[in-house]
This record gives sequence, C-alpha cells and structure tokens, in this order.
Amino acid sequence: MYDFVVIGSGIVGSFAAWELSKYQLKVALLEKESDLANGQTIANSGIIHSGHDPKEDTLKARLCVRGNELYRKYQEELSIPLRKTGAFVVAHDEDDLETLNSLKKRAHYNGVKEAFILSKEEALQEEPNLRDDLVGVLSLPTTMVTFPWEVCFNLLENASANGLEVFLNNEVINIKKVDNYYLIKTNETEFKTKGIINAAGVFSDEVAKMIETDLPFHIIPKRGEYFVLDHSVDGYLKRVLYPLPSKKSKGVLLTPQTHGNILVGPNAEVISDKTDVSTTQEGLNFVKNEAMKQAKNIPFDANIRTFAGVRASSNYEDFYLKESLSNPKVYHLGGVDSPGLTAAPAIAEYLIKMIAGKYPLIKKTNYQKFIKKSKPFKELTTKEKSELINRKPLHGNIICKCEMVTEQEIIASINSPVGSDTIKGIKKRTRAGAGVCQGGYCESLVLKIIAREKHKKMTEINYYEKGTPILKKETKE
Ligand SMILES: Cc1cc2nc3c(=O)[nH]c(=O)nc-3n(C[C@H](O)[C@H](O)[C@H](O)COP(=O)(O)OP(=O)(O)OC[C@H]3O[C@@H](n4cnc5c(N)ncnc54)[C@H](O)[C@@H]3O)c2cc1C
Repeated sequence: MYDFVVIGSGIVGSFAAWELSKYQLKVALLEKESDLANGQTIANSGIIHSGHDPKEDTLKARLCVRGNELYRKYQEELSIPLRKTGAFVVAHDEDDLETLNSLKKRAHYNGVKEAFILSKEEALQEEPNLRDDLVGVLSLPTTMVTFPWEVCFNLLENASANGLEVFLNNEVINIKKVDNYYLIKTNETEFKTKGIINAAGVFSDEVAKMIETDLPFHIIPKRGEYFVLDHSVDGYLKRVLYPLPSKKSKGVLLTPQTHGNILVGPNAEVISDKTDVSTTQEGLNFVKNEAMKQAKNIPFDANIRTFAGVRASSNYEDFYLKESLSNPKVYHLGGVDSPGLTAAPAIAEYLIKMIAGKYPLIKKTNYQKFIKKSKPFKELTTKEKSELINRKPLHGNIICKCEMVTEQEIIASINSPVGSDTIKGIKKRTRAGAGVCQGGYCESLVLKIIAREKHKKMTEINYYEKGTPILKKETKE
C-alpha cells in the first residue's frame, strides 16, 4: 500500500514526488508514456518567468514569483541548468508605454524585486538586434531559462535515491475508492494507495473525472508552435524578448536557451485534440511575422527544426490546486498552463503545506541530498578533457559531432537510474542528435551503442516508444 501515488512525470509531478520523497512516506509515480516528461514539459519556452505577467492576487502570480526564487535556491542541490538571461518586454508606441507602466506596477505588486523601464537608446545598447522602432522596454533581470526535462530527470533521480518508485508505460485508466484507500487501475496493473496527486497535465481533468462526480475544471488545450535556431546563433540576443501580452497569451517570444539555441514562438491556438502537436504552415508564418516585429535580422536560416506543445489551459483560469471535496487525500494539480514550469517548485511546496495542514508528515532522517552531476564533456577545459579521457577512454570517442557528446556520456545515460534505451530518450539526456544535422550522423551510432549495452538486436531498438524501431531487418551481414 502506497501513501501517495503521483500521476504524471512532467515538471509538476516531478517536483511533487521529489518533495514527498523527503518524508516518511511510500510514494510511487505513474507515467503513461515510455519516458519521463514527454507532455507540456518537453515542449515549452523553458523560461523561468519573473512574475510580471500573471493577474494580481492569483496563485499563478504568487507561485510564479516564489518558483523563480526556488529555482535559484535548488540550483546547486539539484544541478539545475539555469541561464540568468533577464528579459525585455518591448513597447512600440505611446499607448504601449502606458501598458508597460501598468506591467511594471503589476510586477512590483506581484513581488518581482527588479522591474524597471529603459529608454529606446538604453535598450538598443544592451540588445542591438531589437528593431529600431521601439519606444522603450520593461527590463526584468530576474527572468531566467532552464532545460525543463533535465530538471525532471534530476528531481526523479534524487527522489528515487530516497525511495520513490517510478512506473513508466502505466496509464491510469480507472480510480476507485475502496474503504479507506484508493485502487488505481492502469493498463498494466493495479496500485493501492491512501492518497493521490493528480499531475496529469492536459489530461488532469480526465484523471479527475475518474474519481469526482462534479468535475471542478476542464482543460481547454491551447497549442503553441516554435522554430528552433541552432546554437551557432548564440549571442544574437542576450535576453528573452516578450511583446506586450494579450488576453490570449504572452505572445510570440524570442528566447535564448541554456545550450545556446534560440526558440522563436509560440502562437496560441485553441485545439480540440489534446495530443495534436503538429506544426502548421499558417502557425509558423504567424510566429515568424510576429517575431520580426520585435527583432531585426533574425537568423531564420539557422532553423534546425520546428515543434509544438499543448498548454493545459482551463476554464478555471487560475491554477486549480485543491484537495478533492469528497475524496480525502486526493489532490488535483490541474489547469497548470504557463507559468507552470516556473511555478512547479512552488506548487510542490504549496501541496506539502496543504497536506501537512491536515495530515501529519514526518521528515526522513536519512534523506539524501542530490549528488552533484558531472559537467558535460563539451564544457570542460582541454586539460580536464584529456584527464577524463585518460581515466575513461570512451570519452575520447565523440559520437555526436554537432553537440560534442561522447560515447561514455551515452553509456552513462543508458545506465543511469533514470536512463533510457530509446534514440529519443538518449537525445533528451545527452543532446546527441539535437544539433544542426538532427541525428543524421550520430543516430545509427547511438542505436548500435544502445543495442550493445542492452544486449539487444539493433532491430529491437526503438526510436521513441514500444513498436517504433528504426531498423526493420538486416539487409546484409
Ligand atoms: C507552448 C508552451 C509554452 C510554455 N512556456 C512556458 C514557459 O516558458 N515558462 C513557464 O513557466 N511555463 C511555460 N509553459 C507551461 C509549462 O510548460 C507547463 O505549465 C508545465 O510543463 C506543466 O507541467 P505538468 O507536469 O503539469 O504537465 P505535463 O508536462 O504535461 O505532464 C503531465 C504528465 O502526465 C502524464 N499523464 C497524463 N495522463 C496520464 C494518465 N492517465 N496516466 C499516467 N500518466 C498520465 C503525461 O504523459 C505527462 O507526462 C508552456 C507551455 C506550453 C505548452
């Protein structure tokens, strides 16, 4: 019998499971996909917002500002990749300037420590690639960017070292209340638990429906499409560029990434199919045109791919973070759209307060803080590289030449406690295949290494999930 079962391995479920792993509780995390963090958490801008945008006195505002603080606090303990970029919100005419001033007021009200207006000249000096027709910017130095799914891996690696049990390929299909516990049925098996944390992202309303008679919120999925520019454009922008926000979204942004790439997007389109992560010519054209209103000479020729993510927006408008009215110890963390990545550590903190306010929680005495991760090979000095190659010679074999990923790093990511044996899983963990050739060179090498390490035939290695092999059969010896 578990004390808590967390449903969903996105950033919200991962932070929740990590917080719960600090207490004397038996906790499991169930994920329907074959890998962690494949929902909204793999397809967003990666921005740790300062908190200038959410409406005053909402959970979104409060937890966004707190989340921004917590990412800094946990950075060392969890090896969180953070790039402290700062951000500009750009105004183009006098009316915009008025809105910029209201945003500044809102930022201060929400608790953002630094938010100030800069003139056109000051802004252009900092960011020469801004379009010249701006009239001023709101500067937000506390804005940062992270690499969201790496945060999940680190959280779950640490939580697993503290007793968390993770079950992939387990889609929750039914929840039943039995006496004083809940019976969760998945496509694979059954779990008995005293408590449930519903962190199922765009499916959080459907999971809620399995146990609630009155559905407290429903998801209105909103798709956002992006261009990914190769890291050779690193330096084109230092900061995140936001246009003025609309009711619909924060608008199309230009976002430098932790690894040097730049994301251009997203748009915001309400869709009916929650799983529809296709990109469209129309959506991408819109993104391109909107981006060109912010910055000049955007290096679109360095575009290496496009992608889309689906936001878990809801009719509730704020995050829906509540215990069920009729089912004790069932907590819904629903409707977590933007700024959910930023707010996730604060959502987990809020969850623990909700639980501890009603049910006693006792801290573990043998809780292990995160063991520091080694730096990627690519980021080492020449001296450090040669020392490492002497100790582990497979670091001398570069498998992904675009992102400088070594054979030893790929082996480590296959065998890690939160490892993977798929091509996409290795790409998520090491960036092999994330560069300009998009795996054209290294994919077949990664496939061979996985097969060798897992003692499988190459035809058994999947690209993404069960039944997605790249190779069908051998054509020659
Ligand atoms: C285009 C876009 C841009 C965004 N940009 C930002 C940004 O820059 N900054 C920011 O702060 N926020 C941003 N967000 C919001 C942020 O990405 C989300 O709020 C956050 O990722 C939500 O995490 P989650 O864990 O709730 O959901 P998810 O990451 O979607 O995780 C839910 C998990 O539950 C699993 N699941 C679902 N149903 C079941 C089931 N029945 N059984 C088992 N498992 C199940 C899913 O497979 C998934 O892994 C953006 C979102 C989008 C889509």
